[in-house]
Amino acid sequence: MIKKQFTTKLMVAGMTLAASMTAAPVLAAGSFITIGTGGVTGVYYPTGGAICRLVNKGRKKHGVRCSVESTGGSVYNINAIRAGELDMGVAQSDWQYHAYHGTGKKSFIDAGPFKELRAVFSVHPEPISIIARKDANIKTIDDLVGKRVNIGNPGSGTEATWNVLWKAMGHTNKDLKLAAQMKSSETPGALCDNKIDAFFWAVGNPAALNKEATTTCDANFVKVEGPAVDMLVEKYPFYGKTVIPGGMYRGNPDDIPTFGVLATFVTSAKVPADTVYQVVKAVFDNFGAFKKLHPAFAHLNEKDMITKGISAPLHPGAVRYYKERGWM
Ligand code: GLU
Repeated sequence: MIKKQFTTKLMVAGMTLAASMTAAPVLAAGSFITIGTGGVTGVYYPTGGAICRLVNKGRKKHGVRCSVESTGGSVYNINAIRAGELDMGVAQSDWQYHAYHGTGKKSFIDAGPFKELRAVFSVHPEPISIIARKDANIKTIDDLVGKRVNIGNPGSGTEATWNVLWKAMGHTNKDLKLAAQMKSSETPGALCDNKIDAFFWAVGNPAALNKEATTTCDANFVKVEGPAVDMLVEKYPFYGKTVIPGGMYRGNPDDIPTFGVLATFVTSAKVPADTVYQVVKAVFDNFGAFKKLHPAFAHLNEKDMITKGISAPLHPGAVRYYKERGWM
């Protein structure tokens, strides 16, 4: 059974909407939808908030009400959509691919292909980010051996991608002094209190959590490169090389080479086309406003969002809108 974690109540478009406390049935337009996101200091949570804000602005017209739930992240969101507990969610492009194909991690293999998973659009890039205490002297991913590392909470895409990378490097988590699994919002505190040496995660930039870590104590980004990264990027279509821009975070003036995935917005074939259509329309009819709702959205463009990072079939409600706009 999937447990609901990190459920919070939030302000959406100036209204307090109670996050759904029970399994949310899938409803037609005139419905209430819940979007699964991630930890409150990540980028998924404000991404869900931005989408809901635009949906809720038009709710009198189209009848769709949107609320956001803070969750454990990508894998949790996909599993909860599969179980009918969430209508939509944000998920890393690698785990969208693996869920649809029933590959990549034991629970996805055991569950088999999630054929009803539907892509809606992709969002911001998520470079793999490893932030270390300066005094831990960790400059490269090989320096993580024997260290205390937060690898990501269970249910995060972060933890799942850590396991892929660490295995590709020929390691198991026994090669760490500590493989901590705190949720993302707890990691800057743990780092600066010297409870861990570093934390790993896949997240858009700038992220509140990365700012918190680098301003609360002296911390550096770790270079994520080498033969294992080269192999992964070559082998899988959803990985690409990228950098974390120098100067974005205190004490990190130089570009940091790494690789990454895309954040994507997904749903189930069971969610009615009218509902998905209204959500997509709210975002793309107000795209200028959407891009201003988080700095990680600054470089988004419509064409990439409906082509890149999409492994599952697009939901028919999204296709209807994209065709109307002449994008397909
Ligand atoms: N990519 C992360 C995950 O699925 C979440 C990042 C965020 O919260 O912005 O675990």
